Amino acid sequence: MNNKIIYSIVVPLYNEELVIMESYRRLENVMNKTGEEYEIIFVNDGSMDSTRKKVELICEKDTRIKLVNFSRNFGHQAAITAGMDVSMGSAIVVIDGDLQDPPETIIKMIEKWKQGYEVVYGRRSKRQGESFLKKLTAKTYYRLLKSMTSIDMPVDVGDFRLIDKKVCDALASLPEKNRYIRGLVSWVGYKQTYVEFIRQERFAGETKYPLSKMVKLALDGITSLTYKPLTFVNYIGSFCLVGGLASSIVIIAKHLSNKLSILSLGLILSIVIIMFGLLFISLGVMGQYIGRIFDEAKDRPMYIVDNIVNFRKPNAKYESGPK
Ligand code: UDP
Ligand code: MG
Repeated sequence: MNNKIIYSIVVPLYNEELVIMESYRRLENVMNKTGEEYEIIFVNDGSMDSTRKKVELICEKDTRIKLVNFSRNFGHQAAITAGMDVSMGSAIVVIDGDLQDPPETIIKMIEKWKQGYEVVYGRRSKRQGESFLKKLTAKTYYRLLKSMTSIDMPVDVGDFRLIDKKVCDALASLPEKNRYIRGLVSWVGYKQTYVEFIRQERFAGETKYPLSKMVKLALDGITSLTYKPLTFVNYIGSFCLVGGLASSIVIIAKHLSNKLSILSLGLILSIVIIMFGLLFISLGVMGQYIGRIFDEAKDRPMYIVDNIVNFRKPNAKYESGPK
């Protein structure tokens, strides 16, 4: 019997006890329809609820379901990376565990892959059940990022996508730690296309992406793909210098012709505060890049695995093998 795994479905999970069973049911239902071998890799990103227990129960009954347990919460992008690192399929699908990405769309992605596309991303034609602010910031951010990079990046696209094994290998060869995977997928190239889907409301529970994580991801996207913000800081500096020089010339000229009007203290103070604001923003922009250089220099692993369940052979990354 040919039991080579064709599809690997990677599902990051962080405190998803309310959705995991339904997520498994829907994914299994869809993948059984393909009639081909598959594995579902749940990556438990340090959940503090019963997510781990629930996935372990599923793993006991169904050996196609695999589990990677992190030693703590390392974040969504690290969880996706870990899932891709251990995947054995010829095509790998990354999908959120909360059913906001409808599993049924995977079938359409597979069709495109069979037509020869190596990346099939899911484009959100509509987003349901998300706040106006989230939709607006996401829309603005994707367009801002696209305008800043020379890479052909699709907009309104998250991490829900199918990638061919060779794209997965190309991503694994990139050493950076603060990953913005959707940007890196555009960066590696290959033959790409998309399928549209309606982003659903979360099945249950709440978002695991508080503002701080969202900002970190957004900054990872910018800093990993472009250094335009640093160029922008240059422009601010040049603009202030030219403005300062021009106003000095005017003041000197007025002084020489005895028409000097004394600038109010309030105005001078405001200018100083604005200048300090710009200065600290510039330092902050540089800090974002320097912090990431620091992270890369430390060369710590992106994640630490506590244990893995249902993996048939030891993966190179986990020499101790399955427990
Ligand atoms: N997630 C994760 N680690 C985290 C945060 C989120 O593995 O630190 C998972 C989460 O369980 C979900 C997916 O990543 O399967 C997307 O997260 P979420 O639905 O909370 O993000 P949103 O859709 O609200 O942007
Ligand atoms: Mg979600």
